[in-house]
Amino acid sequence: MLVYNSQSHRKQELVPVEEGKVRMYVCGPTVYDQIHIGNARTFLSFDVIRRYLIYKGYQVTFAQNLTDVDDKIIKRANEEGRSAAEVAEEYSCAFIEQMHRFNIMDPDVRPRATREIEAMQEMISSLIEQGNAYVADNGDVYFSVRSDGDYGVLSGRDLDQLRAGERVEVNEDKRDPFDFALWKAAKPGEPSWPSPWGDGRPGWHTECCAMIHHYLGTPIDIHGGGQDLVFPHHENECAQASCAWHAPLANCWMHTGMLRVDGEKMSKSLGNFYTLKEVLDKYSADAVRLLMLQTHYRSSLDFRFELLDGATNNAERLASCIKNLRWAAENSPMGSELTEADRALSASIQEAQAEFARQMDDDFNSSGALAALFGLVTSANTYLAQVAGAAAAAVTLRAADTLQELCAVLGLELSAANEEDELPAGLVELAREQAGFEGGSASAAAEALLAARQVARTEKNWAVADAIRDGIAALGLMVEDTAAGARLRSKRA
Ligand code: AMP
Ligand code: ZN
Repeated sequence: MLVYNSQSHRKQELVPVEEGKVRMYVCGPTVYDQIHIGNARTFLSFDVIRRYLIYKGYQVTFAQNLTDVDDKIIKRANEEGRSAAEVAEEYSCAFIEQMHRFNIMDPDVRPRATREIEAMQEMISSLIEQGNAYVADNGDVYFSVRSDGDYGVLSGRDLDQLRAGERVEVNEDKRDPFDFALWKAAKPGEPSWPSPWGDGRPGWHTECCAMIHHYLGTPIDIHGGGQDLVFPHHENECAQASCAWHAPLANCWMHTGMLRVDGEKMSKSLGNFYTLKEVLDKYSADAVRLLMLQTHYRSSLDFRFELLDGATNNAERLASCIKNLRWAAENSPMGSELTEADRALSASIQEAQAEFARQMDDDFNSSGALAALFGLVTSANTYLAQVAGAAAAAVTLRAADTLQELCAVLGLELSAANEEDELPAGLVELAREQAGFEGGSASAAAEALLAARQVARTEKNWAVADAIRDGIAALGLMVEDTAAGARLRSKRA
C-alpha cells in the first residue's frame, strides 16, 4: 500500500519497522477552547487512516497528546480568574466528548504534557550534554538550530534563506533567531515545575518528541498532523529526536490539507469560525464525515454549511439501503436457486470490496472509496427493484454486511440502519378503527394497517386507503413502498 511521505514528497510503500505492526502518533490539541472543524478534519483523517490499517490486518498502536500547558491556556485562565489546570481540564473533557460524538476512536495512549515533565527533562538534559541546547541568561533552555546540520530538511527550508526572508522576533537571549525554547523559565502567576535549570515549564515542541520516545519508541511508522505543523513544529521535533537519539523520529510524515470556510481561511476575525460542537449540534456525525471524506486528506477542503444537507441525504441513502436489504433478506425464501440478478449483485459486492481497497491502498483515497461504496448502493437498489419481494436471502444479506463493514472502516455509524423504527402506541387504536384489529402490539397493528391499505388499494377503495395513510401520517410515520413490500418508517426530520 502506498502512503505519501511529506518528507520525501512522494508516495512510498508502507513498510513498518515491525512487520504487521504500525505505531503512529498524531499531534493533539492545545486545550484552551472547543476545537474547530479544521482540527476535526485532521483528527478525522487520521481516524480513518487508523481504521483502514486495522481493517488491513495491522496491529496499530496510536498515541495522541493533549497540550495542557501553554501560553493560550494561561491567558484564558488569567482572563477568567481561574487556574490554568482548571481551564485545561475543562477543555480536555470537552475535546474527548466531541471526539466521541464524532465517532473518533480513542487513542491507545493519551499523554498529557503536564504529566510527562520527567521524560521531557531527560531529553533536554541529553540535548544540553550533546551540545545541541544551551541555558540562556534569562533561564530559558533553547535548542540550537545551528548545531543540527539537517535542520530544515523536513520542511525543505534552508536556514540562511529563512533568516534572510522571515521577520522573527528579536530575542537577545537566543544565539540564532530560529532557536526554539525547550524549557521556559517560570514567570509570576504561571504554572511551573522544578528543573536543573530552575523552575519553569516545557516549550510546546518538546512534548511530542519525548512522548513518542517514551510510549512508542523511535522511529515510529507514521507521524501526522495538519500541514500548518510542518514548520516549525515538526521540523523542531525532527531536530530534537535526531540530535537526542541519533535516529529519525518517524519513517513517514503525513500531513492533512487545511480546511477552509466558503473559500477563505477560517478565522475568528472573519466570523467564519465553526466549532465541531456547533456543527454536530445541527448535523449528524455521519453527514459531517461523509462531507469531509469526499475530499482527499491532503487537499484543502472547502467547507460550506449547505453541503451538509446533501451529505445528510447521502447518509440516509446508505442507511436505508442497508435497512431495505436486511428487511428483504428477512422476508425472502432461503436456499432458492440463484437468478441472474442475484449473480449480478454478488459480482457488484466483490467489485465494490476490491475497488474500495484499491482506492484506500492508494494513499487513503477516501473519495474513491466512497464512490465504490455508493456504486454498491446503486447496484443493491436496482437489485431490490428488480427482484420485487423475491430477493435471495444470502446474497442480499452479504450486500448489507459488506456495506456495513466498509462504512465502519470509514467510521460511519449509520445507526438509523440498525435501529428499529419506534412505533407509537396510537397505531393500535388506528388499526382498530380502520382495520378491525383486535390485537395489542404496535408492530402487529402496523401489519394489519398495511394489509388493510393494500386490500383497499386493490379494490380501488381510495377513501379507505387515504384515511389509513392520513391516520399513519398523523402519528408521525409514513408508508414506504419498497420493492419488497410496504412498511412504516418515521418521517424524516
Ligand atoms: P492545534 O490545537 O492548533 O495544535 O491544532 C490541532 C490539529 O489541528 C493540528 O494537527 C493542526 O495542524 C490541525 N489544524 C489546525 N487548523 C486546521 C485547519 N484549518 N484545517 C485542518 N487542520 C487544522
Ligand atoms: Zn507535535
